Amino acid sequence: MLSPCRAVRARATSPASYGPHARNPTPTAMTASADQALRTRAARVIPNGMYGHESTRLLPAAFPQFFQRAEGAHLWDADGRRLLDLMCSYGPNLLGHRHPQVEAAFQRQLAQGDAMTGPAPVMVDLAEALVAQVAHAGWAMFCKNGTDATTMAVTVARAHTGRRQVLVAHGAYHGAAPWCTPGPAGVVAEARAHLGRFTYNDAASLDAAADAAGDDLAAVLVAPYRHDAFADNTPCDPAFARHARALCSARGALLIVDDVRAGFRLARDCSWAPLGAQPDLSAWGKAIGNGHPISALLGSDACRAAAGQIYATDSFWFAAAPMAAALATLQLLRETDYLERIVALGTRLRDGLAEAAQRHGWALKQTGPVQMPQWLFDDDPDFRIGFGFAEEMLARGVYVHPWHNMFLNAAMTEADIDAAVAAADGALAVLQARRGMLRPHPVVVQRLGLRVVD
Ligand code: PMP
Repeated sequence: MLSPCRAVRARATSPASYGPHARNPTPTAMTASADQALRTRAARVIPNGMYGHESTRLLPAAFPQFFQRAEGAHLWDADGRRLLDLMCSYGPNLLGHRHPQVEAAFQRQLAQGDAMTGPAPVMVDLAEALVAQVAHAGWAMFCKNGTDATTMAVTVARAHTGRRQVLVAHGAYHGAAPWCTPGPAGVVAEARAHLGRFTYNDAASLDAAADAAGDDLAAVLVAPYRHDAFADNTPCDPAFARHARALCSARGALLIVDDVRAGFRLARDCSWAPLGAQPDLSAWGKAIGNGHPISALLGSDACRAAAGQIYATDSFWFAAAPMAAALATLQLLRETDYLERIVALGTRLRDGLAEAAQRHGWALKQTGPVQMPQWLFDDDPDFRIGFGFAEEMLARGVYVHPWHNMFLNAAMTEADIDAAVAAADGALAVLQARRGMLRPHPVVVQRLGLRVVD
């Protein structure tokens, strides 16, 4: 996820050049606000006031940390400011926040019972629905988070093969457990001892990593496309997908697709199915319950026995209400044009933004699928332009991300997209005027190992 030390030019590096007391005024600089009051209280009782990827530590200073509510395409921050949400909860929100049918199914089950002494009938309904939906799947196991599903996938692969080595792409994110977290604190080397690395879309490097693993190769774990943070996103080369499939079959290893982030945003099946490469295992999370906490591991019949052998459980994995939400979500995926809709909206956004960028003289790189756009600026090694742009978008009521891919949801309308494009038009114009005053974010500089030189 993080790139090696790179030298970049910068005008200022001190923390005072960024943050609430930044010398460069931000368009929505925090005044005494509900968000600020919550941050002050949080700083006393929560490490760093907030942790993980939803912390604003790696976002522009003006970004709100806390939100009151969400509905359809919008979020309301702790100060009641309404924002068009182009992050969709970092993925879970596929059909719109609080989709009425999903919420009704959730509430109905909640009224009956949620975390009980065993699962509800809906667990079987949901497993049947997923097996019917995802071509490679013969069985399903449920959990809560993407990390649960990727971790369980690796465990099943090792149980099935009796081998240890798992190959993952350089820079890929597969969760926050010790074996895969990008943060080294508190992680012993032994937890990652049996991971090999390859370059995404590079068949020769995958071959080399597999050769190095030799007869200890348990699995190849891949994202559906290269959706690394802080980098342009790249589609998967179908030839690479088929090569990975053939390699795993030839070497007796399992192919795992990590569909946690992109699942059901690219296809109504596993994301690699349209590429002609069916995995043995696929990990799902985020969108499958349209915002409710549920994830899943799906597998082919060939590895069903191993899945039955591993010890996999958790106090809340069998909670019924999120399963009912997921079942309702799957029904809507089958019966609505949500996918065609987010692609059409994404295309409208990409085209509108490209025009605005050109009009204002910005080289904006829009990569990734249109429904999961990644926006980075050319010649912006320390991301200061991207941060400035995100600030200006926020000031215009649109929540965008300066270094992570974004997400569209099916509750968005053409008018929402046009509003985002209009906001971008204003933001990109103002950004030209602010260009010389933009400063790099010190935490980003530190995390990316950037060496800032003036
Ligand atoms: N895999 C991928 C590709 C992800 O994007 C994520 C979450 N960003 C995970 C795994 C981990 O999911 P979770 O945060 O729900 O544990």
